[in-house]
Amino acid sequence: MNTRKITLAEAAGELRPPPTPAGTGVISTWDLSVGVDGPGTRLVVFTCGCPLRCLYCQNPETWRVRDGRRVTVDQVMAEVHKYRRFIEVAGGGVTISGGEPLLQPRFTGELLRRCRDLGLHTALDTSGSLGDRASDALLADTDLVLLDIKSADPEAYRDLTGGDLGPTLRFARRLSDLGTTTWIRFVLVPGLTDAPEQVDALARFVSELGNVEHVDVLPFHRMATEKYQRLALTFPLADVKPPTPELLARVHAQFAAHEVPSI
Ligand code: SF4
Repeated sequence: MNTRKITLAEAAGELRPPPTPAGTGVISTWDLSVGVDGPGTRLVVFTCGCPLRCLYCQNPETWRVRDGRRVTVDQVMAEVHKYRRFIEVAGGGVTISGGEPLLQPRFTGELLRRCRDLGLHTALDTSGSLGDRASDALLADTDLVLLDIKSADPEAYRDLTGGDLGPTLRFARRLSDLGTTTWIRFVLVPGLTDAPEQVDALARFVSELGNVEHVDVLPFHRMATEKYQRLALTFPLADVKPPTPELLARVHAQFAAHEVPSI
């Protein structure tokens, strides 16, 4: 099969998606998940459009707004209502993920507010690259931010994502100033994000924040390979192996040395 490479020019185009009418947004899908997208059982809404092109991305189908489907906030909330009782009993909530949900801040903000009004726990899963687009009101309606810091080294970050690290660190500090509960997510990729000095830099940065409950160290895997093939895209890390238990242990020890809890 012919596959095409990921283009960053295309990603830059996602920064200016076509405007959507008030009360609507563009999503890929929604799904139930347990334990990985916030506490408990959660309804996860995957929005479409992302300005980054992470080499290990597991959701390439969410990259482009034009590949998604337009829905109203009311339609998404109808789905939330279907699962509301189940989610509450399971101690879960609703997570807005992507793609990059802050590419559609009005839609994301409305969903968070409507879920909050129902008394549901709300989470925002973001790379922080568009953190400046999150209003204080949106963050006030967010119980938990899952913030992906893909590397604390600006050059490595650019190589890995095609974007700048600065906005993510700025967003992390803002969340700390606001006291917004945050879990940091860090994907451990052998040969790309595992350099001891890179991990140390991330651990040091996180140790200076006052709002982080823990760092999720997510071992790189290749489960999205088939998805890339279906989309006729090249998975750039198809030959990279998952981290060994020894590497994972070393990275957890580095976070512990900075008194940063990691799981
Ligand atoms: S920020 Fe998330 S959705 Fe966007 S490319 Fe990276 S991993 Fe994929």
